[in-house]
Amino acid sequence: TKPVTTKQLKLCIERLFMMDPQLVKKPAPISLDELREALNNDRVIPYFQPQMDAVTGNVVGFEVLCRIQLGNQLQLLSPERFLELAESNQLIDELTDNLLEKAMSQWKIICQDDAYLDSSLSINLSPSQLTEMSWPNRLRKYCDDNQIDAAKLTIEITENQALSEQSQYSNISRLRLNDFGVAIDDFGTGYTNLTQLCCLPISELKLDMSFVRGIHHDPLAQTILQSLQDISRKLGIKLVAEGVEDLRDLNYLEKFENLRLQGYLICRPKPFSELIRWLKAHKKV
Ligand code: C2E
Ligand code: CA
Ligand code: CA
Repeated sequence: TKPVTTKQLKLCIERLFMMDPQLVKKPAPISLDELREALNNDRVIPYFQPQMDAVTGNVVGFEVLCRIQLGNQLQLLSPERFLELAESNQLIDELTDNLLEKAMSQWKIICQDDAYLDSSLSINLSPSQLTEMSWPNRLRKYCDDNQIDAAKLTIEITENQALSEQSQYSNISRLRLNDFGVAIDDFGTGYTNLTQLCCLPISELKLDMSFVRGIHHDPLAQTILQSLQDISRKLGIKLVAEGVEDLRDLNYLEKFENLRLQGYLICRPKPFSELIRWLKAHKKV
């Protein structure tokens, strides 16, 4: 057998660290007062990250990611600074409402362009929101208010969230019965086996970025993607590869049909005005 190279070892360690959130040092969270201040002063800002079809390169959807602004600071904060705080202080619904109100009206403007008329919008829900009975109705109201077809909205829930309780099956079903799409986010980091997957009424799978990084030279990740492509085609669901950062990975992924790509290499998450500029610059003629 060949000796392991330092590079291979480094990749292994990086992957291990990425998969174990305990080992990743998080920046300090903001205070509860700061969070309340941001919520009360309209400082929740939707960022949008495009998803493109792997083969055509067309933008086919967007994921909305939450940011908040503190006081007059220019730098916006990402969810790792406030999400847990919002979840543990029952402020997550208010945060999501603030976010969706803006995101839906901005996305409606994007959809006025024929090129994005059929695009989808993906939003993230926290575990408590998935079990809350009010959320399908709330989401429906956002769609009705903005005259948006519910089928164009996809709710992203993490893999562990989807399986943590027996009742999750019915929560996912409730969303699906309301026509919303449901995606399993960060797929590959939890414990779902493929039989369980086939039993969940989901409409999309998002392969976690730890499998996407370096996929061009990783036979195991390649096999996983190929199997998922097979399964998703058979189940009639969408497949997304997230965390595309490297041109060699992009070149490898571009040959896959029924695959959406999302990642910094394609486009970083952007606020509405910047996204509009990016879409104009990248529009195919
Ligand atoms: P996620 O849902 O898995 O979203 C993807 C995260 O990866 C985002 O981080 C995004 O900015 C980042 N990302 C996208 N492309 C790349 C790439 O090529 N490389 C790398 N390294 N990262 C990439 P972000 O915006 O900081 O969000 C982190 C997490 O916070 C999200 O992970 C999601 O779980 C949660 N989150 C974000 N917005 C919301 C929200 O409105 N509600 C809830 N409940 N959770 C949210
Ligand atoms: Ca997500
Ligand atoms: Ca993810």
